[in-house]
Formats: sequence, C-alpha cells, structure tokens
Amino acid sequence: MTQKTDMSNHTNTALHDLTVAQLAQQLRDRKLSSVEATQHFMARMAEHAELGAFLATDADVSLRQAQAADARLAAGTGGVLEGVPIAHKDIFVTKDFPTTAGSKMLDGYRSSFDGTVVAKLAEQGAVTLGKLNCDEFAMGSANENSAFKPARNPWDTSRIPGGSSGGSAVAVAARLAPAVTGTDTGGSIRQPASFCGITGIKPTYGRASRYGMVAFASSLDQAGVMARTAEDCALLLTAMCGPDLDCDSTSLDVPAEDYSRQLNGSIEGLRIGLPKEFFNAAVAPDVRSAIDAALKEYEKLGAKLVEITLPRTELSIPVYYIIAPAEASSNLSRFDGVKFGHRAAQYADLIDMYKKTRAEGFGDEVKRRIMIGTYVLSHGYYDAYYLQAQKIRRMIADDFQQAFKQCDVIAGPVAPTVAWKLGDKSDDPVANYLADIFTLPSSLAGLPGMSVPAGQGAGGMPVGLQLIGNYLQEARLLNLAHRLQQATDFHTRQPVGAL
Ligand code: GLN
Repeated sequence: MTQKTDMSNHTNTALHDLTVAQLAQQLRDRKLSSVEATQHFMARMAEHAELGAFLATDADVSLRQAQAADARLAAGTGGVLEGVPIAHKDIFVTKDFPTTAGSKMLDGYRSSFDGTVVAKLAEQGAVTLGKLNCDEFAMGSANENSAFKPARNPWDTSRIPGGSSGGSAVAVAARLAPAVTGTDTGGSIRQPASFCGITGIKPTYGRASRYGMVAFASSLDQAGVMARTAEDCALLLTAMCGPDLDCDSTSLDVPAEDYSRQLNGSIEGLRIGLPKEFFNAAVAPDVRSAIDAALKEYEKLGAKLVEITLPRTELSIPVYYIIAPAEASSNLSRFDGVKFGHRAAQYADLIDMYKKTRAEGFGDEVKRRIMIGTYVLSHGYYDAYYLQAQKIRRMIADDFQQAFKQCDVIAGPVAPTVAWKLGDKSDDPVANYLADIFTLPSSLAGLPGMSVPAGQGAGGMPVGLQLIGNYLQEARLLNLAHRLQQATDFHTRQPVGAL
C-alpha cells in the first residue's frame, strides 16, 4: 500500500487542514477516498510520533474500516461522518484496538465490545486512527501521569499539553486527526483544548453514554469531543449523544438533538455572566487580556456582559478532590489481577496476588487517590469528609442556578495560566489540583462546558475562553463559539515550531 502524504492535488488546502465538515463533503463528493484520507493522517502520525499523542495504532484495522466506508460512499449509503478518520481517548474501550486507560494495569487488555460513544461514531461512518494518550485512569492535568509517555504540546514541545485528554488535544492541534473524543471529569476536555488552542465541549452530565468508558469518578465522568471548530464539535456531538438507558443508568432520557442545525442563531441581547471569582488575581495577566479581548468580540456581536458571583468557587477544589478519589477508590477495586489486564508474576496466596498486582499496576497518582478515597469513605471519616463534600457540591450546583437567573451563559478563563513546562508541577500534585479551579465547579454541578480558542498569551501559547451553559444548553454554547469563530481567526491559528 503506498503512503500518500501530499493531497494538494485534491484541494487547495492540505488535507490535514480541512475541517471535519469539509472532509466529509469531499468524501461524499468522491473527490477523495477514505483510504487516501486515512493514509494521509497515518503518515502524519508517524512523522510526529515524538509528540506522544497515540498509545495504539493499527494500520490494517484503520484501512479496513476506511475501505468499508469507501464502499458505503460508493453505494450512497454513508452516514454523516462516512470515511472521516478520527481517534479516541484510550479511556473508551474498543474491540479493534487495545485499551489501557493510560495504565500499566490494563497493558495488553482488549475489550470484547466498543463503548457506546465509539459505536455511535462508527455508525455514522467514522474511521478510527487509533487510541490517544491520557493520564492514568484520566487522573491528571498535564498528561504526565500517563504510565507510558508524556504527550507534548505542539505549540512548544517543552510544555505539557494539559490533561487528562492530552493526547486528544495534541492530535487535533498538530493536525494528526481532524477530531477526537475525550472525557471530562473535572476539566479534562476543556483544559487541554485551551492549552493546545483547539475547541472542545463537555456536554451535560448524562448526555453521552458512559457505557464502555473506563470509570474514574462515575458521578462526574462525561464524554465529549475536541476539534478545531465549533461546527465540527457540533457534528460529532450530534452523533455521540442521546439516551442509552439499557447500558448506562445515569444516561439522560432526553431525545438526541441535531446541534449542527442550531448554529448561526443571533446572540443579540444574550447575557454573558462573568463570575467575579473567575476574574481575580489568580488569573495570569496574559490569560486575562486574551479573555477580555474575546469578550469584547461578543459585545460587538450584541451580547451583554453582566457580573455574577459563584461564591463557592474555591471550595470546588477540596470538594472535587474528596468526591472524585472516593468514587475512584471504589471503581478501581475491580483491578485485582483476576478479570482485567495485569497480574503479578509471583505471589504467595490470593491476598498477596491482589497486593502485588495493584502495587505493580498502578502509578503514584492513582495510588494516592485510592488511599485518599478509601480514607474519606471509611467509618468515622465519612461524615466529616465525604458527606460534607456532597453537601457543598449541592450548594455549588445551587449557586449556578442563582447565577442563571441573571445571565444566559457564563464565561471566564479555562485555567489560570497557559500550559506550563513539562516537569514544572510533576512532583507537586496539589499545584496540579489548584490549576483546576475554573473547570471543577461546573463539573460538580453536571453542567455543559466548552473551551474556545481566544488568542495567545505568554510565549505565544494558546488561551481558551470557557463557556458554561445551563443543563442541556449544548446548542447555545456551540452557537456562541461558532459566532466567535466566524468573527475572529483565533481557532485557525496553528503551532508552527514543531510542525
Ligand atoms: N485534573 C482533574 C483531575 O486530575 C480532572 C481530570 C479529568 O477531568 N479527567 O482529576
């Protein structure tokens, strides 16, 4: 099979610069085959392997899927994403690729089924390029907790791409894939999207099925999508979401929506709430000025900026770092060397096998969280920590409902700074936790959130504007992001150095 890397005879734009919408159109028009597109991206993936975006690839599987897509395109029976190559965070189980969740514990594991999100995207014709690097069990903010390798930010390879969906963000920013899946428990789609200058959305909790997502913190985990444009996010999100009542007990019983049809609505008179707690001294000046400039664009488009308050923003850090580890400690008890993945080679008896398997299979951050989680759930501490955290979680959710009486959508920074250097915070878990301050509140409330490119800060590093909507307001967020992308070029800026 010949590898084509130059598709310039098909279009004036390089193939990897096309959006998902453009690629899908060219595939439908038969100007390009899915096999050609897939080979092109596979060649780029190989060329930029040093970015550490992928944990697993399989050219035979991807090309077989592409050939099947081409046959459907020829027959005119394709779905909306027919033949478009995408990639999945390695937290979604897949039957055609291994799944590790970024952990040695699952090294060599292969699922017997595809997660619902993976299956739904495949139903619409998406071709899978491979599995994307992530922090171990999605625990992290820098992708440095991956048990295999760190991923690198293509804007500056000495910096982290963000996490936990770091490989996902790298793949899109470096144009190794036009769109990818990610998961967001406390910011893992929005923060890496912000750090890598791409668009990412986490829908309302329960909107996309958790079936086949390796569980971290079940009351927070949510699948979503990352791409270069809001239009592309709308296309994929439409395919991914919808009820999955038989497989996911927290799936929302609300019919799927077509988000693409709801782009281009006027934002005249829309009230954008700016929480004063998101615009304080913790925000670096370069981030602040990019956010302010993006907000000015919204004013030009007719939106009104109103000050609001989310008074328990700071509490979201201790609350999240009690609830998420508590749920993780319970979810991760299934990794005992019996059913999945790794098992210690030598052990004296069953208990010893459990202990050695878990000691060898889990990395430091995962062990830390299992210990914290077990502690806060234990008799005598449950009321003081876990129960207290649940009460404050409810108050945080109520604060948002108060805020939404004064505004239609909330905006602010995604993170206090741009992406930091690899190694800068790797020995300091609390420094990583503190950087999650602006993404955790909406996660605890189960609200949809988005990161939209909003310009560049120090060192030319990207800055994302966070948009938070009320429950099931994904369409409003995507529309708002789309309007900004029609008025500005932030989302078209690309890393040049590493590519
Ligand atoms: N950074 C947060 C954590 O470490 C969020 C991770 C996520 O959203 N998966 O838990």
